[in-house]
Amino acid sequence: MRRTRIVATIGPATATSSSLRQLLAAGVDVVRLNAAHSDMATHANNARLVREVASDLGRNVGVLVDMPGPKIRSGVVAGDEVELESGQEFVLSGNEDGVGDSQHVATTLPDLAQWARRGDEVYLADGAIVLRVLEAIGQDVRTEVVRGGTLRSRKGMHVPRAEAHVEPFTARDALALEMAIAIKADFLGLSFVRRAEDVERVRALLPKRGMRPALVPKIETAAAVDNLAGIIAAADAIMVARGDLGIQMPARRVPLLQKEIIRACNLAGIPVITATQMLESMTRSPLPTRAEVNDVANAVLDGTDALMLSEETAVGLFASETVRMMSEVAEAAEGWPQERVRPAAIAGADADRVAWAVAHAAVQAAEDLGVAAILCPTRSGKTAHRVAAFRPKVPIAGISTSPQVLGSLALVWGVQPLLVPENREEEPLRLALAVARKAGIVHDGDLVAVVFGAAGPRTGSTDCVRIVRA
Ligand code: PEP
Repeated sequence: MRRTRIVATIGPATATSSSLRQLLAAGVDVVRLNAAHSDMATHANNARLVREVASDLGRNVGVLVDMPGPKIRSGVVAGDEVELESGQEFVLSGNEDGVGDSQHVATTLPDLAQWARRGDEVYLADGAIVLRVLEAIGQDVRTEVVRGGTLRSRKGMHVPRAEAHVEPFTARDALALEMAIAIKADFLGLSFVRRAEDVERVRALLPKRGMRPALVPKIETAAAVDNLAGIIAAADAIMVARGDLGIQMPARRVPLLQKEIIRACNLAGIPVITATQMLESMTRSPLPTRAEVNDVANAVLDGTDALMLSEETAVGLFASETVRMMSEVAEAAEGWPQERVRPAAIAGADADRVAWAVAHAAVQAAEDLGVAAILCPTRSGKTAHRVAAFRPKVPIAGISTSPQVLGSLALVWGVQPLLVPENREEEPLRLALAVARKAGIVHDGDLVAVVFGAAGPRTGSTDCVRIVRA
């Protein structure tokens, strides 16, 4: 059974009931709705469809709404695609309207001219095209094309000098947040965060009661790399957003940063997603390149909790084949012996130290005894998170009465989520055993570890591990 999680972005190629059925059956654990594209009503509909299909298939699937953030884009170009030749002049306009061509394009940065200095580099087409600034004239910026290429409509652009000054939370983010709360999204991706405050600011906007979406800042700016520790401390999970990260800094640094970020998340005991171009060639081809297969396997060996697909499943011709391929490669890589990171929370002066130490003890005992599974009856999901952070070799079940808690576990390495009916009469330990037996995770006579709060139903009170025979 695969333990690494798969996140798949849906889009025009897959937002139908039959395609979703195939994707989820192929192994998707979390569906990503990319709020940078489409309207919010479409995303809300797609979320409903995902949950309907998941419930039909008896699958627990999380929903991640990826907020666009302050991504700067170039505008629409005639025919949706123009060629820029190295050496030619090209004009950028700080005005969102108008259709561009091979001589000029509009941008979403209104005060572009203010942030452009002669000699600065500006990147178009998600970094593929490089321009050098010649001069600013009024609202326009005249440039020379240093590296040409194909410019399509509404592609990401990078203006290094401007990025520290753009407003981190845009009007479109506000709409996406409203939609995410309305559909009870399990996860909220935060694009282009630069510091912990950008995460805290969104957290302050979440509802004060009930389940809230877990916040998943994307590490994709140079500033976020500089402020990594603070962002991780403010986050519920992290995404290594390799696409934009490789534009904001030399691409050769990305593989090393991926290792560093994953390790830091493993140490903090929070889930981490490795994203972008993992099986990119499968957007158009039924088979991946050898290099892509290696990339997926290496992310697993780096210790990632989850792997993400973008274009491959949003617009790809082989969406479910890509998920199956990712699943097979990840599962094969999991067979390789890995160094285990010991979450730092266990040694800190943290109020949750007891819960961390009990999770650690459960994993130790489970492996010493070769138990059939570690069962985690959990009200908030945290017990299952903590047990998973120690990467036990035996199966983990996260058991909850709340479908939303189970949704939040969909991203966590190795946790099988099980829904249990509310029953205040029965002891949590007995309920956990009954539901795990029913799910076929444990069988009569198996030794099982159960981690729970013996002190009562308060969340965060995990203080007990019992080894019992089912
Ligand atoms: C990325 O840049 O790698 C990424 C995941 O962000 P997006 O797909 O939203 O541009």
